[in-house]
Amino acid sequence: MDRDAIAGVLAELGEPAYRMDQIVRAQRAGARGWDEVTTLGKGLRATLAEHGALWSVEPLERAVSGDGTVKWRLGLDDGRQIEAVLIAHARGRRTLCVSSQVGCALGCRFCSTGTMGFGRDLSVWEIVEQALIAAREADDQAARLSNVVFMGMGEPMQNLPAVFGAIEELHRPAPGLGISARQIAVSTVGWVPGIAALQDFPLPVRLAVSLHAADDETRSRMMPINQRYPIASLLSACRRYCDKTGRRVFIEYVLLDGVNDSLEDAKRLAQLLRDGRFHVNLIEYNATGDEYRASRPERRERFLLALERAGLEASVRRSRGADVDAACGQLVSRAAPAPA
Ligand code: SAH
Ligand code: SF4
Repeated sequence: MDRDAIAGVLAELGEPAYRMDQIVRAQRAGARGWDEVTTLGKGLRATLAEHGALWSVEPLERAVSGDGTVKWRLGLDDGRQIEAVLIAHARGRRTLCVSSQVGCALGCRFCSTGTMGFGRDLSVWEIVEQALIAAREADDQAARLSNVVFMGMGEPMQNLPAVFGAIEELHRPAPGLGISARQIAVSTVGWVPGIAALQDFPLPVRLAVSLHAADDETRSRMMPINQRYPIASLLSACRRYCDKTGRRVFIEYVLLDGVNDSLEDAKRLAQLLRDGRFHVNLIEYNATGDEYRASRPERRERFLLALERAGLEASVRRSRGADVDAACGQLVSRAAPAPA
């Protein structure tokens, strides 16, 4: 049930505002339905239940990878589906990859979410509840949900009001999730107006930009958005963001065999990023169709070395959860027909 709707019911009944925190605490503790929110009186629970279910997202499937990655397929009120992925790190830290939309309108060719098309925006609580489910899972693993990245389904910058609302709740001390803003990352395809909006957002979250190519021709072929915001305009937006916030920008670059992984590509990329405050994350491609293949390890190493020689900060982000189809959009697109 949407929180605005719950707030409306509580207000109508003259209930105090802290009831909402009691509800969130119960969700965090694993309550599955209103009858398990035992901090509320029976009558109130029954009234709330008449208005809708406790949760606005419901786990339909949970898959655990050999490397400890947990992936959920989640159902929404209207029958649509999204996914969330929890990645295990050393020292009990966990990163959750959340979805911000059902599907995505931007149609990047290498991305299985992109091939499903756009369904709808998620609400604040459809995003936050992904984190409540993951935080509970982390508790069960004696670990801590320390990081959240908006790298699941959808383009967060096309749903910024809900993404900002969700970030505030993720960051809020208990009964919020108390996640440090610096451990929250918003990844964008390169939606320039969104980058400008993020630089005015008061919490210092990280910005990650999916660049994936070092020339406009290659990028436009992979990512239609490049025709609207070509590389030069995107990188100027990033530089303005750095100037305004004093923070660096994380450049994502998925290495595709024979497409964007040559030595010339690495040199061009280094040239593009030479006088900025950038960190490059080279991403191993998780193959989703027949069109693209992941770069071979020796080409990946050569690419990384070329960036480092040119003085750039760079690292390789290893693919995780491949055995449970944990790449962007994979689980849902295999389990269900494209969302209408
Ligand atoms: N829409 C946003 C955030 C979601 S996608 C964006 O595009 O940035 C998160 C990241 O996963 C992006 O960098 C995207 O390019 C990348 N990605 C998509 N499909 C992938 C795949 N099959 N293997 C590896 N990375 C992928
Ligand atoms: Fe959308 Fe991001 Fe996938 Fe592109 S990579 S289609 S923007 S989710």
